[in-house]
Amino acid sequence: MLNLTRQMIEIRSILQSIDPNDNTLKLPSIVVIGSQSSGKSSVLEAVVGREFLPKGSNMVTRRPIELTLVNSPDLAAEVAEFPALRMNNLTDFEQVQKILYDLNLAVPITEAISNDPIQLTIRSPRVPDLSLVDLPGYIQVEAADQPTELKRKIRQLCDKYLEEPNIILAISAADVDLANSTALRASRQMDPKGERTIGVVTKLDLVDGAEARGILTNRKYPLKMGYVGVVTKVPQTSIFKKKTGYQAFIAQQNFESSFLKDNKDEFAGTSVGTRTLKKRLMRVLERSMALSLKPTYDRVQQELEEASYKFKVEFNDRSLTPETYIASSIDTLKGAVKEFSERFGRNEIKSVLKNELDQKVLDLLASKYWNKPHDQSREIDQDLRDIVNASPTDVYWHRKLDLTTNSLTKLGVGRLSTTLLTNALLTEIDNMIDNTTLRTHPMIKQVVRDAAEEVLNSRYYSTADQVENCIKPFKFEIELENSEWKQSREHIIRLLNEELRSCDQYLQLLKKNIGSRKLTQIMTYLENKDNSIGETIERENIGFSPGILSRGRDALFLKDRSSLLQFRISCLKSSQCKIKENKYKCPEIFLAAVADKLTQTAVLFLNVELLSDFYYNFPRALDAKLSNGLTQEQIEAFAKEDPKVKRHIELQQRKELLELATSKIEDVMTLQKHRTKH
Ligand code: GDP
Repeated sequence: MLNLTRQMIEIRSILQSIDPNDNTLKLPSIVVIGSQSSGKSSVLEAVVGREFLPKGSNMVTRRPIELTLVNSPDLAAEVAEFPALRMNNLTDFEQVQKILYDLNLAVPITEAISNDPIQLTIRSPRVPDLSLVDLPGYIQVEAADQPTELKRKIRQLCDKYLEEPNIILAISAADVDLANSTALRASRQMDPKGERTIGVVTKLDLVDGAEARGILTNRKYPLKMGYVGVVTKVPQTSIFKKKTGYQAFIAQQNFESSFLKDNKDEFAGTSVGTRTLKKRLMRVLERSMALSLKPTYDRVQQELEEASYKFKVEFNDRSLTPETYIASSIDTLKGAVKEFSERFGRNEIKSVLKNELDQKVLDLLASKYWNKPHDQSREIDQDLRDIVNASPTDVYWHRKLDLTTNSLTKLGVGRLSTTLLTNALLTEIDNMIDNTTLRTHPMIKQVVRDAAEEVLNSRYYSTADQVENCIKPFKFEIELENSEWKQSREHIIRLLNEELRSCDQYLQLLKKNIGSRKLTQIMTYLENKDNSIGETIERENIGFSPGILSRGRDALFLKDRSSLLQFRISCLKSSQCKIKENKYKCPEIFLAAVADKLTQTAVLFLNVELLSDFYYNFPRALDAKLSNGLTQEQIEAFAKEDPKVKRHIELQQRKELLELATSKIEDVMTLQKHRTKH
C-alpha cells in the first residue's frame, strides 16, 4: 500500500524545521482539545496504545505536545523520541511520562503556558502514521480566576493551532451534555461550518445505549466528518484488575469491543470504537494533507526562490556548513600558530625573561643598597658614598654583594621563568586569535585557550624543575669573563638611564598636574615636617588635602631616586667600575651579569622543554578539541557565534531544506497522480 501520510508527515516536519512559526509553510495536523476529565488523555493513549501522558489532578499541560506517530512494522514495541532533547530510543514509558511532566512543570505557573511545543515521536508497529497536537489551556481558559492577560495568551496559542488547515479533534464525554462541551464550543469558533472537526464522544459505557446512540447521531451540532464514540478506559472495579503497559491497552480494547458487541443494536449505523477512530483519523489526515499539498508546494517554491536569490546576492552562492566553517577555522588557526612560531622563538623568550630579571635586579638594588634612611640634608645616602671609598678588604661590602646575589639566584628562577613564558604564550595566543576571523568567536577562543593551557600545563613542572636544576651552579659560584663584565656594565648603565628618564618624566608630570610652584611648596612643607620630627614646634598644615600630600611624597621620592640614580650612573661610568675585581663596589653591574647568566641558561631549557614541545603539540591538541572532540550541536553553535556566519549557514540550511521539501512534495504529488490513475 502506498503510504502517503508517512511521507507527508515527513514533509511536515521538514517544513516545521524551516520555520516553526510560519503558518503558511505548514501541512495539517490533528489538534486534540477537550476539557479536563473529558477523556482526552485516554483517547490519545488509546490511539498510541500506551500510557505516556502525565497524570495528576493538578497536572495541567502547559506546553503543546506535538506528537508524531510513525508506524514501524519492524519494531517489537513502542519507542519514543524527544528530538529537541536528542533523546532517542526510549522504551520506558514511565520515563517518557516523567520527562513530559518535567518539561511542562518547567513553565512557571505565573506564565500559565508556553508557546514552545514539546516534540515527541513514537514509533510502534501498532500506531498509524499520524501527526497530533495535544493542546494545553482549555482547562485554564475556563478557570475563572485566571487573569485576563493570561486568558488572552492561552486563547492566542490555541487559536493558532486551531486554524486551517489543521483538523480539530473535539473530545466530549457522553455523560456531559454536548451543549456544555468546551471542546465543541471552541471548535465552532474556529470552524463554524464544522468542516474540519471530528467529534469524539468518550465514556459511552457511562450512559445507556439509546442515549449514546442519540449523541452519536445528533443533528444539533452537525460535523461533516461526524462523531466517533469510544470507550477508552476500563472501569476501575475489583473485577477488572489494574493492568499496566501494553496489557492495559489490550484490556481496554477487549473491554471496548465486548461493550460494543453487547450494544450492537444501539450502535448500528454509527461510528464507534478506537480502531474506527484511528482509521478515520488516518483517512482524514491523509485527505487534508493531500489537499494542502499543492498550496504548500506553491508557497515552498516562493520561499525557495527568495532564499536562492538572497543566497546568491549576499553570499555569491558560496557553500558554507558548520563543518566546513570549523574545518577552515582550524586551518586558519594552525596557519596562525605556524606564523607565530616563526615570530616567537628563543630571542623572544630571552627578552621576556631578561626584562623580568632586570626588574628584579632593580628591586633588589633598591631594597638592599639604595633604600637606606636619608640623612637630614636629603643628600645621597652616606652608605652609598662609603661604597665608593671602601677598601678592597672590607668584608661588609663583600658579604652584602654575596647576600644580594643569593637573593637573585634563589628567587625560584625555574618557576618564575616557566610561568612568564606560559603567560606570554597565552597572551600571544589570544592576540593571535584576535588577528584572525575567529575573534568574533568567544567559545572557540576559549577552546583554543584551553588547548594551549592543557599543553603548557602538561610540561610546566618538569620544565620548571629542569630550569632550576640547571641554574643550580650559579647559587654557589659565579665566574665572569671580562667581556661579560663590559657588556653588563653597558647594559646596566643603559637601564639606569632609562629608569632615570622615567623618574624625571613622572616628576614632570606631577609638576604639570599640580603646578610647579605648588608642588615645590608641598615638597618643602613635607621636608620641613619630616625634619622636625620629635621637635615640639607643630608646623601648621597649610591646607593641603591628603591626596595632594601623598602626591607630594611621591615627588620627593622621585627627586631622591633621581639624584641617587645620577650618582650611581656616574659611579658606574667611573674607572673604578671598569674592572670586574671591583664588583663589590659596583653591585649593579655584577647583579646584571648574574641576571644575564640566569636568563641565558633558562632560555636554553625553556626553548627545548616548553616552546618546541608547545609548537609540536598545540596544533594536535586543537585538532583533538575542535575536529574530533565536538558534537554536532557544538560545531553548529561554534560556527553560529559569528552573526554573519550564522546568517550564511542558516540561509544555506533554509535553502537546502526548501529544496528537500520541494523534491519530496514533487514525489508525493507524482505518487498521488499515479494512485488516482489506477
Ligand atoms: P482528561 O482529563 O481529559 O485527559 O481525561 P482522562 O483521560 O484523564 O480521563 C478522565 C477520567 O475519565 C479518568 O478517571 C478516566 O479513567 C475516565 N475515563 C476516560 N475514558 C473513559 C471511558 O471511556 N469510560 C469510563 N468509564 N471512564 C473513562
